This record gives sequence, structure tokens and C-alpha cells, in this order.
Amino acid sequence: MAQQIADRRDIDFVLHEQLQIESLFKHARYQDLNRKSADMVVTEARRFGLKEILPTYGEGDREGVGYEDGQVKVPSCFYGPYKHYVDGEWIAMEEDPEVGGQGLPQVIAQAAREYIVGANFAFAAFGILSHGTGKMIELFGTDLQKKLFLKKVYSGEWAGTMLLTEPEAGSDVGALTTTARKNDDGTYSLTGNKIFITCGDHDVTENIIHPVLARIEGAPAGTKGISIFLVPKFWVHDDGSLGERNDIVCTGIEEKMGIHGSPTCSMAMGSRGTCRGMLLGEANRGMAIMFHMMNEARLGVGQQGYLHGSSAYLHAAEYAKQRVQGRDIAAARTPDATGVPIIRHPDVRRQLMRMKALVDGMRSFTFYVAYLFDLEATATDATEKDRFQGLIEYLTPVVKAYCSDRGMEICDLAMNVFGGYGYTREYPVEQLMRDCKIATIYEGTNSIQAMDLLGRKLGLKKGEVFMQLLREIRQTIQTAEKIPGLQPLCGRLDQLLNRYGETAVFLGKRAMSPNVKAAFVQAYPFLDVTGDIVMAWMLLWRAAVAQPKLAALLDGAEDPAARIAANKDAAFYDGQIKAATYFIHSQLPVTEGKINGILEGEAAAVLDAAEKSFGG
Ligand SMILES: Cc1cc2nc3c(=O)[nH]c(=O)nc-3n(C[C@H](O)[C@H](O)[C@H](O)COP(=O)(O)OP(=O)(O)OC[C@H]3O[C@@H](n4cnc5c(N)ncnc54)[C@H](O)[C@@H]3O)c2cc1C
Repeated sequence: MAQQIADRRDIDFVLHEQLQIESLFKHARYQDLNRKSADMVVTEARRFGLKEILPTYGEGDREGVGYEDGQVKVPSCFYGPYKHYVDGEWIAMEEDPEVGGQGLPQVIAQAAREYIVGANFAFAAFGILSHGTGKMIELFGTDLQKKLFLKKVYSGEWAGTMLLTEPEAGSDVGALTTTARKNDDGTYSLTGNKIFITCGDHDVTENIIHPVLARIEGAPAGTKGISIFLVPKFWVHDDGSLGERNDIVCTGIEEKMGIHGSPTCSMAMGSRGTCRGMLLGEANRGMAIMFHMMNEARLGVGQQGYLHGSSAYLHAAEYAKQRVQGRDIAAARTPDATGVPIIRHPDVRRQLMRMKALVDGMRSFTFYVAYLFDLEATATDATEKDRFQGLIEYLTPVVKAYCSDRGMEICDLAMNVFGGYGYTREYPVEQLMRDCKIATIYEGTNSIQAMDLLGRKLGLKKGEVFMQLLREIRQTIQTAEKIPGLQPLCGRLDQLLNRYGETAVFLGKRAMSPNVKAAFVQAYPFLDVTGDIVMAWMLLWRAAVAQPKLAALLDGAEDPAARIAANKDAAFYDGQIKAATYFIHSQLPVTEGKINGILEGEAAAVLDAAEKSFGG
């Protein structure tokens, strides 16, 4: 079976036909870029992903991570490609070349990462964490910290991590107990234990810079008293040379369901009393610093989730064309009818169509959010900047949770298409499904995302950000309404937007009332509905771009179906109309049902006595 990650034609469609990212190249920051150079980046990432990273996917999973005598051992096939990950400057593509980046817009980096993250997330994570560490240093580090660490971590020569979680502090980060005491030389001594730390230790790089959340002795309880420290595995002297091994060690690794090539480490700091760190930014500002990183990190996890779905879908589509089983239902009464590829069966088609619509919609959604970052960064008008920032804030929990949950759903559907073979290790879908799940859990579980959407984002600027989102969607509807054939889709989405507005008002009021639990028991359904609406928006937008191009390609055709079958572009554009039609007419009525469920106001699960109803 051909190895599959992501559909290049579709990536180009979103970049150049839907979002028309060329407008960014007019900005001074990107003046050296043009469509050709942007496409070359994606082409090279595709080559790197398919040829060098993808072969590590199954192998890394089978070999897994080892832990012996306190040393973490990553899959041996990772070392070679990691060198090229660094040499190719893939780790911090969107950062300034002066600090080790390629100076690309986020949206192009996002497109390139489809092939890097999509090829093997367990491998890509080494770079993703380094990039995140670098970003915090760039934004909040002292000149010395930048001099010592920035280029090293942005390039990937040294790795980064993120140490938040403790046994008693998972979703509730404010409960952490790791402490820091100031030393006479201005450094801090840290003591504590962290768990579940991705890439917490390894020998892929010669040094690791750990950002650690901890509380300075005497600081306030809860999130207000949290600071962030840079704790190098090997101390780095002011001249950049490596010093002694720091007292931060991996005490074990997790045995887990998926991402077997990724070390998930328990970390002990200060067991010998000599774990040294440097304060990053101001004391007690650790959570604020983390929040600066959060939106990009959550977009990344959403992308991670949906890319597992993208790969699973492409494998399923190819398999469905090859696997012969059963006769065509339309020829059921024909005695000599022979077996057909399973793609001919309506229920297989239904599943493929759902996968396609979700994958296409989520690619547009994730690229759109990445593009908002670029628009925000390049906007000169303060109102425009605010508009983009608001949309990023509102959509971030949705992109993280919806794309990871739908990624899982797609893996499940793909496994169905493979039948029993899908459940075996002979095909990659079972691994994709195992690997995908974590995206729904870390970087804030999807339940926490839903609470963020309802509790913080819905009321942003007294609901103005929410209203802005509705205006953006309505603008697409207005454009699409003028295109022949799309009016019924527009009407359906427009009608649902009104119901969505009602739902927001209903839950918003409840969230402010003493009945707050009855609001938050519907937080996840509200996020889910939001995701469905965003999908419908993205798919309608795609259809509005595709329909005129399809019409031009079919101009004068005596047999449009034959022309579509014979012309790749026509088939591609036709696929956009079909995906939008499927989603808006089949999914939105279900979404309306979900809305009705929310508006019923039912809250049995959170009634005081209900706790006794669960379990034995
Ligand atoms: C493979 C892997 C890699 C990881 N990598 C890292 C890493 O690099 N760095 C790091 O710091 N952490 C990492 N984590 C930790 C991860 O971020 C946490 O597991 C996650 O935040 C959830 O915390 P928890 O496991 O303690 O679950 P809990 O917080 O105990 O949550 C259990 C359940 O209760 C729900 N819940 C909890 N509080 C609330 C609430 N207030 N309202 C509604 N529901 C709630 C949750 O949604 C969840 O369903 C990783 C975890 C794994 C498994």
C-alpha cells in the first residue's frame, strides 16, 4: 500500500485558492517570498516527511522507548532523520532567520508540518517542544538567556520540554507543589517531581532545556504564585560552554497506549539538593507566560489529531478501491453479478464521505487559524488586529478539541472500512488510532477546552468576539448565495446560525446564574456544535471557490459526469461541492438536534443527588 499522509492538491487549494495567502507577500516581513518559494517549502517538507520520517512510523512504534540504568533510549531509527530535521531548519520555520528560523508565515509552516507531524508525531515532538521552549525564551528571556539558549533550541541542536504536570496537579495546574528557592548567585534551587513529561529525557541532543513550573517559597497559593524556570540538563556557563550535569533526572517512563516512540517521563528535581534553574520572566508570572504559548500549542495539538485522521482516511480510500467483497446492491438480482470493490457499497461511501468532509474541513480550519496569526502579526490597523486576535481566542479551544475528537472518529471509521484487517498490525490504521487518542487529553483535556470556550471565550468583550465570528460566517454565506447551486446550502447554514446564537445566549445567562452547573454540563455539547458550524462554514467556503471553477471546466460538456471522471481538476472541485452538500444536509440537521438538546435545559447529571446514581 502506498504511504499516505496528506493530500497535496488539497493543501495547495486551501493555501492559494481558499485563503489566497499571496496577500501576505505584500507585507515587508514576507517580501522575499512568493508562491513558488512557498510551494517549494511544502514540496521539500513532503519529501522529508515521506522519504525520511514516515519509515520510522511503524518501526518506532515496534521498537518503542527503553529505560535502563536511568537512561532513556529512543527508537534507533530516529537519530538519522533527526539530524536532517535540524539541518533542514524545520523546527522553527516561522521564526526570524536571525534566531534560527526560516522567516515563514505560520500558515506555510502549518502546511509544511502536515508532512512532518503527519509522518510521525512521536518523532516530530522533539522539535515541537524545542520550538515552544524557544518561543518562551524569545518573548520573555533575558539577553543572557537568549544568547545561551535561543538559537540552540530553535535549531533543535538542543531540545526543549514542558514540565507542568504533577501527580496531584493535572488539569488543576495551580495545585502544583514543586518549589524554588533563590540562591545568592541569582539562580534558583528547585525541588519536586513532575510526571508525564514528553521527551523529558533522551540522548537525541546533547542538552535539554526544561521550562519548569514551580512556586517560589512564600509565593501565593494557586496559579497566582506560579513562576517558570529554565532548568538545563547540563548547566550552561555564561560563555556558552557546557558545565556539570544538573540534578534533574528521569526516574521512569510510562507504558502507554500509543506514541510508543515518544518518551513520557517521570522527572525528579533536586533529589541531591542541587537542581539549579534560572527564572524566566517575572516571578509569579509563570501562567501568563504559558498562556502566551497556549494558542499556538493548542492549534498544534488540534492539527496532530486531525492529521492522524487524514492519514487514516487516505489509507481507507485506497483500500476501499482495491478490496473486492460483495456484489453491487443495484445488481443484486443479476444472477451472474461478480464481486465489486467495497467502494461501490453505499455504506462504505457514506463513511468515506464523512471522513473526506471532516478532513477537508479541518485542514481549512487549522490553516485558517494559522493564517489568523499571520494576519494579526502583519495588521497595522488596531481594530483589525483586535478582530484577528479575538477570532484566535475564540477558535483555539475549538480547533484543539474538535479536531482531536474528529481525528479519533475518522480513525474509527477508517478501521471499519478495513474490516478485520484494520484491527491487525498489518495495516497502519490501528496504530494511527492508538496514536491519535492522546491529542484529546494533553494540552488541556477536551473537557477543559469546552469549559474555556463557555466560561472565558463566549463572553469575551461582552460577546462581541462571538458576534464577530457570526459576521465572518455570514460574509461567506453572502458570497456563496450569489453562486448558482449553492443557495440551499447557504439557507441551511444561515438558519442554524440563528439557533447557535440562541444557544449562546441561553448558556451564557445560565453560566452567570446560580444554576452554573446546568450551564457547564452543556459545555462540551456547545463546543461540539461550534465545531460542526465551523466545519460547515469551511466547507461552504470551499464550495464557493470550487463551483465557478467547476462550471468553467464543464463548459460545453455534453456529458458532465464523463468530463468530471476524465479531468482531475474537475473531479477535485466536484468533490468540494459534494463534501459541502453532504455535511450541510446530513450533519447540520443532527447539529440542530444537539442544539435542541442543549436548549431543553436538561441537567439530570448535575443534580445534587445524582452523584449517588453512578457506579455500583
Ligand atoms: C502521553 C502524555 C504526554 C504528556 N506530556 C506532557 C508534557 O510534556 N508536559 C506536561 O506537563 N504534561 C504532560 N502530560 C500530562 C497531561 O497534560 C495531563 O495528563 C492532562 O492535563 C490531564 O491531567 P490528569 O491526567 O491529571 O487528569 P485529571 O486532571 O485528573 O483529569 C481527569 C478527568 O477529569 C476531568 N477534569 C478535571 N478537572 C476538571 C474540571 N475542572 N472540569 C471538568 N473536568 C475536569 C478531565 O477533563 C479528565 O477527563 C502528558 C500526558 C500524557 C498521557
